[in-house]
Amino acid sequence: MNAPLAHPNWQEILDAICEDIGPFLNRGKVADYIPALAEVDPGAFAIAFAGIDGTEASAGLSDTPFSIQSISKVFALCLALELEGESLWGRVGREPSGTAFNSIVQLEQERGKPRNPFINAGALVVTDSIVGHCGERSGIARLLSFIRRCARTPEIHINPVVADSEAAFGDRNRSLAYFMKSFGVLRQDVPTVLDTYFNQCAIEMSVSDLARAGLFLAANGTSPVINEWITNPDRVERVNAIMMLCGHYDMSGDFAFRVGLPGKSGVGGGILAIIPNVGTVAVWSPGLNTAGNSLAGTVALEWFSHRAGINLF
Ligand code: GLN
Repeated sequence: MNAPLAHPNWQEILDAICEDIGPFLNRGKVADYIPALAEVDPGAFAIAFAGIDGTEASAGLSDTPFSIQSISKVFALCLALELEGESLWGRVGREPSGTAFNSIVQLEQERGKPRNPFINAGALVVTDSIVGHCGERSGIARLLSFIRRCARTPEIHINPVVADSEAAFGDRNRSLAYFMKSFGVLRQDVPTVLDTYFNQCAIEMSVSDLARAGLFLAANGTSPVINEWITNPDRVERVNAIMMLCGHYDMSGDFAFRVGLPGKSGVGGGILAIIPNVGTVAVWSPGLNTAGNSLAGTVALEWFSHRAGINLF
């Protein structure tokens, strides 16, 4: 582990990263499976830190909302565990998949049980659980209000254009869902689960909102932002463990190696990383690497953990 700075000057660290990151912007490939994501400026960059002591710091386009995509899977998992409890693990595992986020390859051999909740198949199981507990119409509303509460930001919203495009180009997710339904792993009405999932992927917020929203994961489950209990400390430990091992698909090992923090990426170019007992850092840069993780965002987090001395190892 790098020697942790006693009192890192978070703002100085973020400003320096924002200044140095230029050569890495535009290097990755913006997600282009739906038009709404393909139109995003590949040169955009933002980073924000939220501390459990109330410190906030940010640099770049930190107030610009972006599509959080698969980062929503972290919040959905926390909510589903609250609603369903440990029996959820009977339907979804907690092992790294070593496969792409939308891969179907392991599902037949493993009788429809996805490896973890952060690949698409696993996230669909989590969404199925939320729909089962909240009712067909209320699952997405419950998830959105959960995220808004965590961030204390009522403006966090779903982009309807992105949600519609997710549905229009969602045949792979449809295949995953019906395949799992055939094994009895999915239990609810498949179109409803898919509709909920497409909407959760289309949630938008800024890096500042995202850093605040994730803060309970750095603070034993009680968010210092709202001073409210969100989930149990032992659940936080488990969710962070899964983020560390599975948060970046088939590049999860690379992220752990380089950054040394639990993190979760989305194809919108965002990454949320957790520094247990210290705070959170959220980054956004839309250019992606070959595994669908933000290229410049990963570099920025690597520098962040090195410069602040907060790599967990
Ligand atoms: N909406 C994307 C999908 O379901 C989310 C994937 C991601 O962010 N990795 O395919």
